[in-house]
Amino acid sequence: MLQLFLLKRLQQTLFMTLISVPVLGFDNSDKTPSGVQVLTEELVLMKGEALWLQLPCPASRCEACLENQPLNLFPSPLNNENQSMALIATPLDGESCYTLKVRKKGRDWQDYILTTEEPDYPEEALSVNPDMVKPPEQALERIQRERKEIASALNTTTQGMIAGAMQLPVPLQKITSPFGIRRLYNGTVKSRHTGVDLRAAEGTPVQAPQRGIVRMAQNNWYTGGHLILDHGLGITTSYFHLSELLVNPGDEVKAGQLIAKTGATGRVTGPHLHWGVHIQGVPVNPLKFVEDLNAFFLNRN
Ligand SMILES: [Zn+2]
Repeated sequence: MLQLFLLKRLQQTLFMTLISVPVLGFDNSDKTPSGVQVLTEELVLMKGEALWLQLPCPASRCEACLENQPLNLFPSPLNNENQSMALIATPLDGESCYTLKVRKKGRDWQDYILTTEEPDYPEEALSVNPDMVKPPEQALERIQRERKEIASALNTTTQGMIAGAMQLPVPLQKITSPFGIRRLYNGTVKSRHTGVDLRAAEGTPVQAPQRGIVRMAQNNWYTGGHLILDHGLGITTSYFHLSELLVNPGDEVKAGQLIAKTGATGRVTGPHLHWGVHIQGVPVNPLKFVEDLNAFFLNRN
């Protein structure tokens, strides 16, 4: 039911006007977009979702830390010079409570409590090639190296590049596996699903959902043909199991540009596109993220 609802909402909103505006939400609307929370003493974040936090000072004069890690601040989408925004995500297996510190530069830090809640993610059992559950000895070094390369590609410091609504990378037919689901591979290995699986026949063209820079384009053991796009502000999108990679690391891509073709490479049960969104390396539900991001652009009128 929820999936159907989401599908409908997405179909209504996703493919509307692509608006060309300066980077991430310089918006003249006086409405607060959905997904945005104003800074208050008690903040609540659903694990696996991004929190768009509105701060009461401009990005140039404001500082914020989550558990002592500095947060990227960017201009308010409401075009209010006295406000800025921070994009926050916490891991699926993270804590239930975090300390957020905010201050105007030169002033004392103020503490805020960020409480996290976890939706009831379901479980699924999958059968895959045994090498994808217990890899052979000679693959272990490669797997370790790729893990580090992926973590490094997701950890970006690029300025914001998103200049309009975000589209899905392939036409939405069916969500074959939702975000956050608990998986059991071949009855032994447990993992969490850090993206969403979109039905796509082998060879379906994959389009960049927004402007970005290619940070990874290679074949990995578990993820197969793997692309990572960096959209700035710590936002990356990931594409697994591709049959063809049509861009190279360092390339800048435009929204809608053909970047790859879908396939069934890596740990899969059949062809599909695994699509992920990370905020500073933390996976979030891509469909919810797109819905919230697009609210910035669609609420303009
Ligand atoms: Zn997947």
